Order: sequence, then structure tokens, then C-alpha cells
Amino acid sequence: MKFDIITIFPEIFDFYFKHSIIKKAQEKGVIKIQVHNLRDFTGDRHKTVDDKPFGGGRGMVLKLEPIFKAVSSLKNPKSQILNPKKLKKKMKVILFTPRGKKFNQKMATRLAKLDQIILISGRYEGVDERVAKHLCDEKISMGDYVLMGGDLPALTLIETVARLIPGVIGKSELLKERITKQKGFIEYPQYTRPEVFESKPKVKWRVPKILLSGNHKKIEEWRKKQGKIIE
Ligand code: SAM
Repeated sequence: MKFDIITIFPEIFDFYFKHSIIKKAQEKGVIKIQVHNLRDFTGDRHKTVDDKPFGGGRGMVLKLEPIFKAVSSLKNPKSQILNPKKLKKKMKVILFTPRGKKFNQKMATRLAKLDQIILISGRYEGVDERVAKHLCDEKISMGDYVLMGGDLPALTLIETVARLIPGVIGKSELLKERITKQKGFIEYPQYTRPEVFESKPKVKWRVPKILLSGNHKKIEEWRKKQGKIIE
């Protein structure tokens, strides 16, 4: 699986992708992440990526041309032209916008089956609407609130999708166990040592007895009851 991010702030991602499971998954070659600076796809001396909105109004809007160039070059890199088999890959172009479909686990499970995802991160007052209309396959929102950019949504999507790709997290059986028939998931409470946490005055917090019983059937029942099924 390859993730391509188009952003005007590539530095935001530097630290994040060099740590933890995401770093290891890249080293193992299970996923590949490339961050692309939108300014590299501009044609003018000032590397202009934004302009005033038609019709007036506040702020600036990300221009269509550089995004078009970036998406075109990532969809059809030279290596694909030399190796036409690669053209058959399953790929989606995603734009982040608060007006998109709300992201969830089911969506992540579907996206985890692709070979490449190109993520367009917006900024300022948003992105020229022709990107949403003609250039992207899906519009995704992270929730009913407005962020300053699409970079955190891109990180969220990559984390959620990447952990579903075989070989990324250690115990993939655990992941399967939590997936429901509707491709949602069951999320239940977790505890670790100590069995009893004590502090003065009067603090004595215990782990539920059932989890210490060793009875796996009962533990599973308890988890289903306590947990939340998210479809
Ligand atoms: N009115 C603008 C719009 O509809 O896109 C909001 C612009 S917002 C300040 C700048 C960028 O942040 C957006 O273009 C989008 O890429 C991203 N963004 C903000 N909130 C988001 C959300 N809830 N979900 C996904 N992306 C979001």
C-alpha cells in the first residue's frame, strides 16, 4: 500500500512517520508513505499555491492547477508507463473537507484493500471546488468541526488504514477478533497491572474480577457486554 500526501506543510509529517509502528511498517516495506510539497507543482517564480476567492470573501483558496499537476504525476509516474501492469492498481484520490462523508472504521477497512491512496490536504479557506467535483474519487470529513488543514485528517486516515494492512501491527489476530460482520469494530475496556491500585487517602481501584479468572469464554462475554459495537 502506498500513501501519497499532497500538502503545503510537508514538515508536519517528518517527525510522525519516523516513529513507532508506522516507521517499522515502512522499514518492513509493508507500507510506503510519500509526502509531496504542493509548491513543487507550481509554475511561477513565487511557487503560488493560493489565490483570492471568486465572488469575494475572506481568506485564500488553494488553486486547482498545482493540485491537478500533483495528482496527475502521482497517478501516472514514469515507472508505470514503463511497466503497464502497474496501471491496473487499485487507487483512490481523497480530498479532506468538512463537507465530505464522515470517516469511520468501515471506510478504513474498504480503503485498506487498495494499492495506493492519494490524499489532498486543504488549507486556508479551502480548495477550489473543481478538485472536489472532477479530480477526487472521495471526499472525507473527520467530523463536524473545522480544522485549520487536512494534515491531521491525513495522519488519522493513514494510522487507521495502515493498522488494518497485514504485517503492520504485531498481532493481526487481535484485530480480526474485534471486527464485526458489518466491518465495524468492538471496543472494550482494557486493564493492566497492578490488580489493585492504592493511594492515600481511601483510593483502592480494582481490576474487574472476571478478567483475572482465566475463563476465556466468560471474559469474551464480559468484553462484548462492556464494549461498544461501532458499525
Ligand atoms: N470552508 C472550508 C471547506 O469547506 O473546506 C474549510 C476550510 S478549513 C479552514 C481548511 C482545510 O482543512 C480544508 O480544506 C480541509 O482540507 C481541512 N479540514 C478542515 N476541517 C476538516 C474536517 N472536519 N475534516 C476533514 N478536513 C478538514
